Amino acid sequence: MTLEEKVGKTLAELGATDAQAVESLFAEVCAAMEAERRELITRGAADEREREKLCRKLRDRWLARKGGLASLIDENWLKKAAKESKPVVGRQFNELRYAAASMEVAELVQGVKVVPAPETYMPQTNQPVDVRVSDHAAQVASGLTMPVGPPTDLTLPGYCRPLGSIHPVTRVLREIEEIFLGLGFTIEIGPEVESVYYNFDALNIPETHPSRDDWDTLYIDSKTLLRTHTSPVQIRSMEKYGAPLYIIVPGKVYRHDNPDSSHATMFHQIEGLAVDEDITFADLKGTLDFFAKKFFGERVRTRFSPSFFPFTEPSGEVSISCVICDGQGCRTCKESGWLEVMGCGMVHPEVLQHGGIDPEQYTGWAFGLGVERYAMMKYGINDIQLFYQSDVRFLEQFS
Ligand SMILES: [Zn+2]
Repeated sequence: MTLEEKVGKTLAELGATDAQAVESLFAEVCAAMEAERRELITRGAADEREREKLCRKLRDRWLARKGGLASLIDENWLKKAAKESKPVVGRQFNELRYAAASMEVAELVQGVKVVPAPETYMPQTNQPVDVRVSDHAAQVASGLTMPVGPPTDLTLPGYCRPLGSIHPVTRVLREIEEIFLGLGFTIEIGPEVESVYYNFDALNIPETHPSRDDWDTLYIDSKTLLRTHTSPVQIRSMEKYGAPLYIIVPGKVYRHDNPDSSHATMFHQIEGLAVDEDITFADLKGTLDFFAKKFFGERVRTRFSPSFFPFTEPSGEVSISCVICDGQGCRTCKESGWLEVMGCGMVHPEVLQHGGIDPEQYTGWAFGLGVERYAMMKYGINDIQLFYQSDVRFLEQFS
């Protein structure tokens, strides 16, 4: 069955009733799209007009609103999917749409080279061509003859590399980013090699705090370290943009930890910061409760309990009702029914001041979470080390 025939049928007609079959159908579509894109790029175009024409044609084949392959998949696969398979079809369709951005004309034109017609390959020289050259190599060098050997068949499709899958940590990072982008936050990043000032001093972490110890922090010299959290970017962004400020900060952080099933010397965090006039703890609770429901599902309940961090006052821990047992108590939640998922609090006035923001006029809240832990909860992974071992048997389960 050709691709066109397949997208003309519903998933039920194609016999794709479970997640695996749906995923393999979409993988097939993605591979076909990539092969056609590669083919055009390998083929090239004779001039700019032809390039524009070829790119537009390929774009329309996939993305045209009417009759484009993507819209047929929307019509016949997604809209007509059975209710229980809608989530998986929807997710796959979104990924396809994401990948299909490479089929926009502007994207394609960038990749396709203009290969001039063969006659323009002739050497452009005013020197008379020495037709007496008899040596074959010299003739090749002078452009008079082609090298000996089977001619290259330029109509063959290019090499197609098998598509890999997106790493589960990257997947979860993107998912969390999407939720906050939807709430109007922007993404900020900062250096992984950080100064002691930004990592500790500006965040109100005193000299005597245990996290400053050599045992917990990887120092480069007495004033420089590998950041132990993404919070230094709070200060950097406040200095850069002032208030109001709504950011999230994804990134790698480093700890002097012995690797085991729940610790790694490098892992990922996402930091959130909102600074504005009249920001209260209620904004913090509302936003994080919304986020937890978006990420873990509508059934999830959140619980805020008091905690301590030097850079927030008051500080709290957010727990969610256990996603495994729905709050009944199981091994994962140690029979408590709750899972701790992040730290949060109202930004300490000293910290606002260090960022150049007047704490009399502005208030703010912040949170920090570990991305690997979210991926572990989401996919039921029990060993953090699996993320870093590049074992294809592990990673291909998330394609
Ligand atoms: Zn549980």
